[in-house]
Amino acid sequence: ATPTAIMVGVGRAATNGILIKDARAIEAAPTIDTVVLDKTGTITQGHPEIKHIEWTESAPSDAADILASMERMSDHPIAIAIANGLPAAHRVDISGFENMPGHGLKGCIKGNIWFVGNKRLLLRHDIVIPAGLMAHAESLEADASTVIWVACGPSVIGLVAVSDPIRTTSFDAISNMKQMGLDVWLLTGDNEATAAAVAKIAGVSNWRASMLPQDKAEFVDMLQRRYNRKVAMVGDGINDSAALATATLGIAMGQGSDIAMDVAGITIISSDLRRIPIAIGLSKLTLRTIR
Ligand code: ADP
Ligand code: MG
Repeated sequence: ATPTAIMVGVGRAATNGILIKDARAIEAAPTIDTVVLDKTGTITQGHPEIKHIEWTESAPSDAADILASMERMSDHPIAIAIANGLPAAHRVDISGFENMPGHGLKGCIKGNIWFVGNKRLLLRHDIVIPAGLMAHAESLEADASTVIWVACGPSVIGLVAVSDPIRTTSFDAISNMKQMGLDVWLLTGDNEATAAAVAKIAGVSNWRASMLPQDKAEFVDMLQRRYNRKVAMVGDGINDSAALATATLGIAMGQGSDIAMDVAGITIISSDLRRIPIAIGLSKLTLRTIR
């Protein structure tokens, strides 16, 4: 590849909102056969909203205040959704607050230990979900919502369902990638049922759920080593910088973190997934003119 041709290619990409970091990235792009997409913030908007809240009879009257106060301590998109969705909440004092990545939150309020998070968090603390609430949760998850459980001491006292809409641009982008012959995967820390529902709506037939940040990097590594895939990992960097760094090509989405842009070979300024097939096409064209 001549430096001039690469410079022209990089310039053309930039006018399309595609920032290519170096020659290595533009050379890697045409070899890609597998695109791994993070769900939250990449396929979806990353700004969930509360869809449903439900408390059991044993929930204390200030349960919503406690929930909002705990979520105010976290900067996870789900936390922002819940804290903003309960605006009238009074602040409650929390001691021993813990943020457990991939699980949720823990805190002590008025002598009780509270947990806010997913099923895995409850399982870890031997908290049993009542059958009635479980049925409601299953139907909310089948509808692509994410259910967050609230437990006080050993009992579940409520649930919150949040929904993160799929970006309208994701549908065409995924269809275009599949038409180019690329294998498309969805990875998420979210639960199985919600992941399956989002994957189905978005048109992605391969997905893995309940992944911790290190699982995402290991999965990319596995595809590359065991299946000899050339993987483009696409994420906003919140949790996925290790996976971005592991991939043949890391692609950071616009409003992502600085770490993501740092480890990624390509940054898509607009968060529009349709730029990814465009970037791969442009790179192919750039390298073809040279050979
Ligand atoms: P992802 O970015 O793929 O959604 P995360 O590891 O950030 O993955 O989150 C995984 C899951 O952990 C969330 O779907 C949620 O169930 C739970 N979780 C994480 N942080 C919080 C929080 N602040 N409040 C409630 N649940 C949380
Ligand atoms: Mg994410």
